[in-house]
Amino acid sequence: MKVLVINCGSSSLKYQLIDSESGEALVTGLCERIGIDGRLVYKPANGEKRIFEDKLPDHQVAVSNVLAAISNPEYGVIGSLDEIDAVGHRVVHGGETFNRSVIINDEVIKAIEECNDLAPLHNPANIIGINACTKLMPGVPQVAVFDTAFHQTMPDKAYMYGLPYEYYEKYKVRRYGFHGTSHSYVSKRVIDILSLDKNNSKVIVCHLGNGASISAVMNGKSVDTSMGLTPLEGLVMGTRSGDIDPAIMEFIAKKENLSISEIMNVLNKKSGVQGMSGLTSDFRDIDEGIKKGNNRARLAREVFCYKAAKVVGSYVAAMNGVDAIVFTAGIGENDGVVRKEICSYLGFLGLTVDDEKNAVRGEEVVISTPDSKVKALVVPTNEELAICRETVALVK
Ligand code: ADP
Repeated sequence: MKVLVINCGSSSLKYQLIDSESGEALVTGLCERIGIDGRLVYKPANGEKRIFEDKLPDHQVAVSNVLAAISNPEYGVIGSLDEIDAVGHRVVHGGETFNRSVIINDEVIKAIEECNDLAPLHNPANIIGINACTKLMPGVPQVAVFDTAFHQTMPDKAYMYGLPYEYYEKYKVRRYGFHGTSHSYVSKRVIDILSLDKNNSKVIVCHLGNGASISAVMNGKSVDTSMGLTPLEGLVMGTRSGDIDPAIMEFIAKKENLSISEIMNVLNKKSGVQGMSGLTSDFRDIDEGIKKGNNRARLAREVFCYKAAKVVGSYVAAMNGVDAIVFTAGIGENDGVVRKEICSYLGFLGLTVDDEKNAVRGEEVVISTPDSKVKALVVPTNEELAICRETVALVK
């Protein structure tokens, strides 16, 4: 089957057309600056990358232009739109309503809308993408794959905050967690790669990208994860602060005369590795900065790794043990120095890293030594392929 995978943001739309049999992406790309001016990037697997600067006033025009590009007689990858068998949408927040992927119908759209409050920037964009596809490809089945669904197996002791219970009852304030498609895909790969007994397995997944989260996966199910009601909680990230003392918000608001939404903007966009280093949110530049002796770049990497190691340690306690710790996403897949530094805190578990194997980038590989009691691995994530597979499983 050929599945169009769509990931809609408020002003962007990432897409891939995937052949589910081979798992290959026939084309990948994105639309940017939707509603501002517009830019469509189109990268066919066997052809030349193209950039179109046509105006993209809304998501429907963006989807329409993507469909026109992929079926273009000259540079398209399919002969006609009839070849698209299904569409898989990444949907950010499924609240407590969705614990798995679902075929989209009117009732599902309504239920996604009911979660809008929990992800006011993302869910409305996801719905716009779904509606645009419904208009342009009537009759083609569409599936919603939720970032939060995999974590719905968390027990209440892991998802409840120490707040008045009525906030949970009235507003569903609780931990949801994100990157679920990635945590699910990567933890399943680890169970396969190491031939673990799924029903007797303890895996910790470190999804370290610009957004970063760690999950504890016991017997194939998420039992805890570091992001919370929103993706702001947990690890120190590229530009997000992660956990802080909540009282800092009032303290800084008073000192700097900032509103709550200005403070939220600082915590989401100006903090983390970017805020600490004053340099960049990108670990490639941080590594360069450290080589040049930049002390704040060193500090940013140390804080990032120290926090990640502490979360891993807490999940060893949560699961009363661990079989494997796996690294994925941009930093987890590419930055051996970060992996090594995080693992250096975990020697007490009997974890030792093989430096030669840890020099890899972007490949599935066990990076611990053969005699290491706990295994460490790199497993590249592939959220789009996971969305494609979920879609095929439901529409077949
Ligand atoms: P997201 O999907 O959250 O935007 P990614 O998983 O694509 O993030 O990760 C992006 C981050 O990965 C970059 O900001 C950068 O810090 C890091 N990264 C990418 N390539 C490398 C590399 N070769 N070495 C170190 N870090 C890298």
